[in-house]
Amino acid sequence: MKKLIFTLAASVLALGASAQYYQDAANPDILHIEQPRTQQRAVFNVPQINGYNVYKADLHTHTIFSDGHTTIDYRIREAWMDGLDIYAVTEHAEYRPHESTFIKWLKGYVRPEVERAKNHRLVNATAEKGADKDGIQVDLNLPYVKAQEVAKQFGITVIPGIEITRTPATIGHYNALFIKDANSIFDNDPEQSIRNARAQGALIMHNHPGWSRTSLQMTEFEKNVYSKGLIDGIEIMNGVEFYPKAIERAKKYDLFMSSNTDVHRTTYEVYAMNGHHRNMTLILAKDKSLESLREALEAKRTLAYSFGTVAGDEKLLQDLFNASVKVVYSAVEKPGRIYLQFENRSSIDFLLRLGEGGELIRLDGGKSVSVRHKDSYGKNLIVENMWSEKGNTVTIDLTPHLEAAMAAK
Ligand SMILES: [Zn+2]
Ligand SMILES: [Zn+2]
Repeated sequence: MKKLIFTLAASVLALGASAQYYQDAANPDILHIEQPRTQQRAVFNVPQINGYNVYKADLHTHTIFSDGHTTIDYRIREAWMDGLDIYAVTEHAEYRPHESTFIKWLKGYVRPEVERAKNHRLVNATAEKGADKDGIQVDLNLPYVKAQEVAKQFGITVIPGIEITRTPATIGHYNALFIKDANSIFDNDPEQSIRNARAQGALIMHNHPGWSRTSLQMTEFEKNVYSKGLIDGIEIMNGVEFYPKAIERAKKYDLFMSSNTDVHRTTYEVYAMNGHHRNMTLILAKDKSLESLREALEAKRTLAYSFGTVAGDEKLLQDLFNASVKVVYSAVEKPGRIYLQFENRSSIDFLLRLGEGGELIRLDGGKSVSVRHKDSYGKNLIVENMWSEKGNTVTIDLTPHLEAAMAAK
């Protein structure tokens, strides 16, 4: 049947654009309203640093497989829309409150006179908790399998992991990343759980070290596992929490630093709705294979991004800035004063101060600013939205930038 197509003016629709209406092929009383596809990804650019690609990762996430509120399919789509390259599956090993709800629902759904089918897919599960009284046990590897199915479509690398989840005040939470079998991690002894994960070749990240605590002081358990070399990384940022003291700890114990969402609801509610990009761990790696990402974490080539603040190793932060911002010469105003332009080729917004006590400049991602630079400012540029082991702000030596700008003028 021939389709009838007509367009109405925007004014009639009170919309910004006109819409197309297609009459249904089988039922002429149905109109299909065609809209352009708006599934556009928020691209977040970070240029290569020291010859490495910079991948955007979330190393800490939750779905209905533990205590999150979305499916894992949704999480992967959300990660792609948010511009991520890497997604780690890190459901709680010990805390999965939705499970009993599902089991009760399934029990209620099946009529008593109907013989129930065994869930053959779940027979190999060995997790301590989550087992139903009927002997139904979950396969904790399923979230990783499901995530991979969706991630393929978007080219996202999925890191298999799990969150070892114990009393926050004394033991804490630890993400085991690059695990082989989520079902054989649990042990009543939390140190043994960490050892079980490490025996599979996992890297252990200490999560939200200040959460539900009165300080960042290390507990006896932490001192023990840190001193035994069982910890590889630490979250210096988790959701809206930032732990500057964890940067010093990362340097002391030689740990990779990360910033993750630990998302339970949607990133739209927590970040995008308020105009923010989600938390990210920037990983400097050769490529985004599991081998290369692991190598990058072991080499501590990571930076943490949260709500516009970038944190991590001082040298790496300087390298990030130098790779992102190009200084271009404009003109001499008079002796001792020149006009320059700072071009930001990354998507990271920078807050800059021209020398100690100098003017404060906002240089947003993808933008340029024209700057009047006086000799009296000196050759240092202060980045105010960066944190390193030396504290708030990171100093950039402008000398090479100015030399390059003058050479190219
Ligand atoms: Zn946690
Ligand atoms: Zn968590």
